[in-house]
Amino acid sequence: MHYRSLNRQSPPVDFRAATIAGQAPDGGLYFPESIPQFAADFLKNLRQMPRPELALAVMQPYVGNAIPTADLARICAETVDFEFPLVPVQPDVAALELFHGPTLAFKDVGARFMSRCLGHFAQRGDTPAVTVLVATSGDTGGAVAAGFLGVPGVEVVILYPSGKVSPVQEQQLTTLGQNITALEVSGTFDDCQALVKQAFQDVELRARRFLTSANSINVARWLPQQLYYCFAVQQWPADAPAPVVSVPSGNFGNLCAGLLARASGLPLGPFIAACNANDPVPNYFRRGGHYLAQTAVPTVSNAMDVGNPSNFVRVLELFDNEFPRLAQALSADTVSDAETVAAIRYVWEEHHYLLDPHGAVAYAALRRYQAAHAHAHAPGLLLATAHPVKFPAVVEPILGHAIPLPPAVQHLQGRPKRSIELPVDYEELREFLLANN
Ligand SMILES: *Cc1c(COP(=O)(O)O)cnc(C)c1O
Repeated sequence: MHYRSLNRQSPPVDFRAATIAGQAPDGGLYFPESIPQFAADFLKNLRQMPRPELALAVMQPYVGNAIPTADLARICAETVDFEFPLVPVQPDVAALELFHGPTLAFKDVGARFMSRCLGHFAQRGDTPAVTVLVATSGDTGGAVAAGFLGVPGVEVVILYPSGKVSPVQEQQLTTLGQNITALEVSGTFDDCQALVKQAFQDVELRARRFLTSANSINVARWLPQQLYYCFAVQQWPADAPAPVVSVPSGNFGNLCAGLLARASGLPLGPFIAACNANDPVPNYFRRGGHYLAQTAVPTVSNAMDVGNPSNFVRVLELFDNEFPRLAQALSADTVSDAETVAAIRYVWEEHHYLLDPHGAVAYAALRRYQAAHAHAHAPGLLLATAHPVKFPAVVEPILGHAIPLPPAVQHLQGRPKRSIELPVDYEELREFLLANN
């Protein structure tokens, strides 16, 4: 498999080069040159397949010859080494829980896969020591830090918006030490992302420090997210209609991976991009296919506070930039903070299921879609992307008590926070990267 740049100025590269580079030299995102189609046998046997085997079957065409099959099989098995249960919430609504990994959010899968691929390339010794430079709105940083902790030959530098991540998220970023450094930026996630993008475009810096991204820009982080949708189909009742899929969306990596799996033949209904007040994509639909970036505003679903989602160009590419085709597969909705909190409260009180704010955005958008399409009686699936314990300020007042910390994060309690403060100033980031080389 080769990957071409969506800016169309750089030559296509294989999986290894795309993973190591993160972004194409022309600043474009890499996109697979062709979309593999799932074999009829694969779709028939999906329900009985063990997760590691399924993961290997899905990822193999994307990795091609870049990693020997035995190594890729091990990487896949380690990547999906926890549960992804489909839990009924109420009639016609099920939640696919993606928060049973080590950092309690869905980004663990992409981060584990990418870190192991990069570790594999680094071990072969033909890759220079790399610095993973990543901006986080909350959950990416923790997943990347946990995924890369102790990987030889890889330094990780994480930029996060000061005061805009939850306590558990901050602990996951700032307490690990070793090869993980957290830069606490006095700005928004978009500021962090813009600083990272600027570093990637700094030719002189990149000549002196080998940088790669671990945002969903990186194909090795983006592509394995298709697996969630396969796990959902595995558990979906065989005799039920294909589900409507509501995806809480920020940078649109997860949603785009789902649409990719659907384009490969996975039996899924239409998708809903569930957004908070940061809603350039819902506005794109309202305007009939005209996209305008926004400035991010803080919300209670902070991992989705993205005003200009990087992966939306990949979504457009999947549909050859044809708005009518895109609009058949995808709709989008804006959910306010008040609606988000009301959804958490309603689902807890009526159905005894505790949503986190991101899952709640997906729930609210799904219920609105189902009400508007009542004649279709479409059963729905929402992706529960984070554990509610990561958002105590929102969830605990509704619950009336504290949520016990799951073992995955207990060990971070009481560890000293280590972060380096950084203004929104590219020169300071540049100096830091050059000084700590
Ligand atoms: C990152 C994140 C999202 C948004 O996912 P994208 O792939 O960036 O659209 C949603 N929910 C949670 C909990 C997240 O951490």
